[in-house]
Amino acid sequence: MYLNPKVVAIGAGYHGCHGVIALHEKLGIVTKVNLHDEQTWDDAGLGKGDLVHLETPVNPTGEALCIREFADKAHKRGAWLSVDATLGPPGLQDPFMWGADVVMHSGTKYIGGHSDMLCGVLAVTRKEWCVGLWEERMYLGSVMGSLEGWLGVRSVRTLELRVRRQSESAGRLVGWLDGLLQSQDREGDAGAVKEVVDSVKHASLQKDDMDWLAEQMPNGFGPVFSVWMKTPAMARALPSKLKFFAHATSLGGVESLIEWRRMSDDGVDERLLRVSVGVEGWEDLREDLLSALKSVREVEK
Ligand SMILES: *Cc1c(COP(=O)(O)O)cnc(C)c1O
Repeated sequence: MYLNPKVVAIGAGYHGCHGVIALHEKLGIVTKVNLHDEQTWDDAGLGKGDLVHLETPVNPTGEALCIREFADKAHKRGAWLSVDATLGPPGLQDPFMWGADVVMHSGTKYIGGHSDMLCGVLAVTRKEWCVGLWEERMYLGSVMGSLEGWLGVRSVRTLELRVRRQSESAGRLVGWLDGLLQSQDREGDAGAVKEVVDSVKHASLQKDDMDWLAEQMPNGFGPVFSVWMKTPAMARALPSKLKFFAHATSLGGVESLIEWRRMSDDGVDERLLRVSVGVEGWEDLREDLLSALKSVREVEK
């Protein structure tokens, strides 16, 4: 609303952001183009005052994109770069360092951190944008209740502790799972996991991108990762076999969650599970995952 772009470039990511752009398209005031196809940007005339919207790490896979690269592509045309940094909150990444003009967070996730409040955050560095956003918010009505405000202040005190621990545990779980998938071993845990898991995705596995990624996320690659099971039936069955992971949507709380993603986003592959790692001991989460993966071997293909 505040920047009022005529063209918005956006890629994969949170379905709610696509939903909001669809409303603006319905009103005929915005054209949406593909983040990964610059020809579509130029065909639609993406230029001064328009918007490039980047989500990184991206929901639901947990893979990262290079903020600096997209900042350069936007700025060279006079457009702004907004970054949805929900999956890489403060403590893990600072998009302003790499050229973002607007940083967006679902405060509902890591900033709240306890799955008990709804909140959205837009951060900007220009004073006049702050004033403009604040004034427009008054008429848009997206004002937080005072209890949520208080819960948010409580939560921010532990934000860095939580996200670094959650991110570290996610990295360990991803390394363990991927290690089993890559191993030559056909027996034991590796054999069992390979029977049911097709692949694991997470920024920590983007080895070819580490030249920019290690700088962009120096303190960990985020607490969300995704698992592609061999079949949709296995993906549907796994969440109810777990004891430490609740089967629920959302992410970012101190408790680990897993979601059969198709349940809340009908655009995604039916074999996809999204995992949000909490603050529990990672070894307990690993044992829980292992026994659940072993038990879905019995599920009909
Ligand atoms: C959840 C989420 C949002 C939306 O946040 P709400 O607080 O639920 O409105 C936006 N972007 C990403 C990446 C999210 O995960």
